[in-house]
Amino acid sequence: MTEGRLHGKNAIITGAAGGIGLETTILFAREGASVLMADISEPALTAAIAKVREVVPTQDQRIETFKCDVSSEASVGLAVAHLDDWGGVDVMFNNAGIMHAEDADAVDTSEKIWDLTHAINVKGVWFGCKHAVLSLRKHGKKRGSIINTASVVALLGSATPQLAYTASKGAVLAMTRELAIVHAREGFRFNALCPAPLNTPLLQDWLGDDADKRHRREVHFPTGRFGEAIEQAQAVLFLASDESGFVNGTDFVVDGGMTRAYVTPE
Ligand code: NAD
Repeated sequence: MTEGRLHGKNAIITGAAGGIGLETTILFAREGASVLMADISEPALTAAIAKVREVVPTQDQRIETFKCDVSSEASVGLAVAHLDDWGGVDVMFNNAGIMHAEDADAVDTSEKIWDLTHAINVKGVWFGCKHAVLSLRKHGKKRGSIINTASVVALLGSATPQLAYTASKGAVLAMTRELAIVHAREGFRFNALCPAPLNTPLLQDWLGDDADKRHRREVHFPTGRFGEAIEQAQAVLFLASDESGFVNGTDFVVDGGMTRAYVTPE
């Protein structure tokens, strides 16, 4: 049997019980990685790991869950320390994020929603990056891959206001670029994933069955459809693997061409 693309690597995925995180866990596990599935929701983690066990044939690597709130540095530190017995972190996917229903424009977004969004989406990513670097150094690793989930709204504005979210994802992009350069000589790569609007609970629950809200977005998709979580996971797998060894500091856009379009096909 040929070895998987992540054979022998230890990965942490935050938001692992959600759309992108779960699909990425499945791909990572299929490719031979040991994965710590970190998420704030224990019930969601229980369901998610059951799904992983159902679809990934038993291999000899570890797949475990860990209740973690990425907005707490202590919590992220514990998740990363959990991998000390495994040999330390090789891949850190800082993916947990929220888009709050009360996120709005400059006037109507409350400070509470702004702070909550930034605590999870920005500080959470920073804590993940910080503790991944500490683990890579502690275990004497000569290379590591850190992938941070941003969004296409970090590159483009959104006419349907979600100011705290948009600003938070812009911060993820800027932070990732700087870390990529600062740690390049250590062999630690940092890339940001920029997904287009997806068919995952984060957005679909928010859109609900509001046809107008849905149409407002669909008209801007060159392909005419929302993206799928698995399409993001495939990109993350590439960024995590050594195949992307010379890919560093990128805004890795997976959007069906959306950010390249001024008008879209009729
Ligand atoms: P999702 O809601 O399906 O999953 C997010 C997961 O993060 C959930 O399992 C949730 O429990 C977990 N989470 C929330 N707060 C947490 C915290 N404080 N600590 C740990 N875990 C926490 O969402 P998704 O669509 O898979 O989104 C994943 C990432 O992709 C997010 O950062 C999101 O902003 C980004 N993104 C999503 C879209 C989209 O359209 N869905 C587009 C662009 C970017």
